Amino acid sequence: MIDFRTHPSFDRHEHVEFVNDEAVGLAAIIAVHSTALGPAAGGCRIWRYEREEDALTDVLRLSRGMTYKNAMAELPMGGGKAVIYKMGADRTACMERFGEAVEAMGGRYITAEDVGASVSDMRAIARRTSYVAGIPKEHGQAGGDPSPWTSLGVHLAIKALLGGSVSGRTIAVQGVGAVGLGLCRLLREEGARLIVADVNAANLERARALGAEVAPAERIHAVAADVFSPNALGAGLNRRTIPELGARIVCGAANNQLETEDDGERLRARGVTYAPDYVVNAGGIISVSAEYLGESEAAVDARVRAIPDRLWRVLAMAETEGLLPHQAADRIVRERIAAAKRA
Ligand code: NAD
Repeated sequence: MIDFRTHPSFDRHEHVEFVNDEAVGLAAIIAVHSTALGPAAGGCRIWRYEREEDALTDVLRLSRGMTYKNAMAELPMGGGKAVIYKMGADRTACMERFGEAVEAMGGRYITAEDVGASVSDMRAIARRTSYVAGIPKEHGQAGGDPSPWTSLGVHLAIKALLGGSVSGRTIAVQGVGAVGLGLCRLLREEGARLIVADVNAANLERARALGAEVAPAERIHAVAADVFSPNALGAGLNRRTIPELGARIVCGAANNQLETEDDGERLRARGVTYAPDYVVNAGGIISVSAEYLGESEAAVDARVRAIPDRLWRVLAMAETEGLLPHQAADRIVRERIAAAKRA
């Protein structure tokens, strides 16, 4: 087992749990970054990492990101995340075993879908724990796949950044999985032109069926567009891609889009408006939180529709205080968490 406390991405996380069960072939890590604002909520990513170290890096960064995202969205939730990096042949047994690990944390961590996980995975987890969301509920109740809410939040943010309409505008969408494809649908319905890229041929076909043009995956950031929307994996904005960006606005759902702190400055130097990832991609966790708290779908809708206002507040603060957008967002969050700790 790696010593997570000396890991460069360790940020005084409250708890890191390594789950290894050779009998079912499961290896997972659950990270609780902060419970200052409530139980640590954040999805479970299922991904093949080359090394356990890479899985740890991801879960430490992602769980910290959830603290910031949940606080920014004004949810009564802290930040946590899980990654499953080895899955045995019996997926259901693995998910049930993962559910037991979540249950053993006694409610400090609440799981849901993330990249690679599905509603049926959440159902298997729910056989072993009640600390799980992302499962369809009765009509009118919040619940189910959170990704359509994430797509909606990103769509509304893009629309706001373009002055209220996407009609006739070109949006380059990187990654047309659950969130990216949902986003493409919403953009298409309102008359946007789409250029998309993905490494998954079946997902690309679905986007093509919506009328999207296709660009090579390694060039999508560089195509001429009004907005570049990253909806694949993180670290897509970096020293290599930023000088080649073909759009003046970046707004998408992928978590941890900036590879390093310096990339925020690189974006500004290039005259690119960056919508901080965790400000605009909160739709899914807003749904997860409402499901866990037994709230209505109408409450989720209202909170997701508040995302553009929140984004404007962040961008305005960045402007007046001479900060980068992600620094302004971080400052708002840190003040909120400090106030909660004082209270
Ligand atoms: P997904 O797995 O359904 O889709 C991701 C897509 O990206 C897949 O189609 C995959 O093939 C594609 N992809 C992977 N590498 C690529 C590359 N190099 N170039 C182009 N495409 C590539 O995942 P999702 O649920 O749609 O999530 C997308 C992103 O949004 C992730 O970063 C996720 O963490 C983040 N996010 C998702 C939600 C949610 O509600 N699902 C909420 C917040 C943030």
